[in-house]
Amino acid sequence: MPRPIQALIHVAALSHNLARARALAPDARLWSVVKADAYGHGIERVFDALRAADGFALLDLAEAQRLRALDWRGPILLLEGVFEPRDLELCSRLGLWHVVHCEQQIDWLSRHKTHEPHRVFLKINSGMNRLGFTPTAARGAWVRLNALPQVDEISLMTHFSDADGPRGIAHQVQAFDAATADLPGERSLSNSAAILRHPALSVGRSDGAVTRSDWVRAGILQYGCAPDFPAHDIAHWDLRPTMTLRSALIATQQLQPGERVGYGGTHVAERPQRIGIVACGYADGYPRHAPGGTPVLVDGRRCTTVGRVSMDMLAVDLTPAPQAAIGSTVTLWGEGPQGSRLPIDEVAQAAGTIGYELMCALARRVPVSVV
Ligand SMILES: *Cc1c(COP(=O)(O)O)cnc(C)c1O
Repeated sequence: MPRPIQALIHVAALSHNLARARALAPDARLWSVVKADAYGHGIERVFDALRAADGFALLDLAEAQRLRALDWRGPILLLEGVFEPRDLELCSRLGLWHVVHCEQQIDWLSRHKTHEPHRVFLKINSGMNRLGFTPTAARGAWVRLNALPQVDEISLMTHFSDADGPRGIAHQVQAFDAATADLPGERSLSNSAAILRHPALSVGRSDGAVTRSDWVRAGILQYGCAPDFPAHDIAHWDLRPTMTLRSALIATQQLQPGERVGYGGTHVAERPQRIGIVACGYADGYPRHAPGGTPVLVDGRRCTTVGRVSMDMLAVDLTPAPQAAIGSTVTLWGEGPQGSRLPIDEVAQAAGTIGYELMCALARRVPVSVV
């Protein structure tokens, strides 16, 4: 028998979540962001559920090739653009659209030999200071691109740093608008948090024209995490969990007061305490830095971890699940038995991280089933 750990990908939930983005941004076209192998879910596994999108956005050229191999003929956008001049050949061959965020990428394009001009997304740095042309440089970059025979349509985009929080997006929208006011082209601004929290940005004007969201970029919301957890959870946003990580108890221990469990003996029993040992550790992608007290479901009942997470195992306090025994189902996150649920956002928060990181870290050794 294989080790009992398993990940489940819930494809109906993926489709539901994508439809939520569609409903919130009805006038926009929808990029389904599938970078990082679809946030750890596997591009091939999610493709059918997400193919109602208008295009796929990612940043790894090999992943773009995998989408074309699935026979996706629609738009694919490289969110970081090309990394070296040679990449432009693949863009020409596969018809990839790409972000242009720096002068060097324009230099490369100007020397690229292609029959088909490229669709590019000019990235404006409206305040995140990661990628993109400053507002003052944006116009010059647009003029340069527009003069190139290698370039077809130029769209304009920016990325928000605080769409999930109190700082919001107004200052960045203002910077973007100021930098692009007199430039033509489609606009792409919203990520998941902006789609959910700032839907007005994605709605067309009364005359039918969409001003700032010809394209929205839905990432994490597709995968059933709330970008602004704990202010809101996925139930609030009507999103469904798309990944379950589950395993089973492979041993139980009866601790006497003063006895310890795990490396470093960081957990000390204060009373007689029954402990379950779960076949899941950091080599499966469970965060090692999850402290004791991180929630776990055992047979659908909420328990908590104790002690340190090891490579292949972790320990849980079975006090809330006295019936639990070897073989009992353990839900690390996602859907548990009998309708029980453990939101990945809660586990991530306990571990001092975000759902994104947990999903992306799912290890290759974990068998995955699409359900
Ligand atoms: C990852 C990414 C997104 C999606 O972000 P989410 O928070 O997952 O919705 C959108 N735009 C860009 C440029 C990205 O890199």
